[in-house]
Amino acid sequence: MFNDESARHFLNSLQMVESCGWCRNTQHSVYRAGLCRHCYEIKLQISKLTRQKAKTKLSLEALRKRDPRAFDFVGYELSVAEKMGELAQLEGQSLGKVPSDVSGLDLEHALSAVSRLVIGKNVFDGLASQLGHSFSPDQLRLVAYLLRQVAREDGRRTRRKWARVLVTLDKGTAVRKVG
Ligand SMILES: [Zn+2]
Repeated sequence: MFNDESARHFLNSLQMVESCGWCRNTQHSVYRAGLCRHCYEIKLQISKLTRQKAKTKLSLEALRKRDPRAFDFVGYELSVAEKMGELAQLEGQSLGKVPSDVSGLDLEHALSAVSRLVIGKNVFDGLASQLGHSFSPDQLRLVAYLLRQVAREDGRRTRRKWARVLVTLDKGTAVRKVG
């Protein structure tokens, strides 16, 4: 039987699950060093590129003497990896393991985000009070948790693309083609 008790029990059991120290996603088990595989690989890339940057520092300086605009490829890739790490940690800080308090409006926003992700437009506008009256507080949390998983999976899939966009914007240069 579906009831409030069962929603609360499910959310509590998720709260007990050991989760990644960065993204806090409960659907991906901890792989190494307290991180899920996705985040661990980002961390690995950051340390690999940091070592590489130190090694190529002199050759980049020599290159820049001849051409001041010579592109620092390793530096750029390192900034992208660091930004991916930041985005993963931001996801963990803002979403945590499970939502703590969800209103009808929050659920409408979650439904709208999924709608835009799938069909590029929002077909759930103006449902906030209906949703708020249809579900108990724990049921609202549960449905929001499930919907957020879609957005979180999309976040993992597109993390590199958004990190490139943000790094390019940070550097104040024209937006490169991302893909
Ligand atoms: Zn993670």
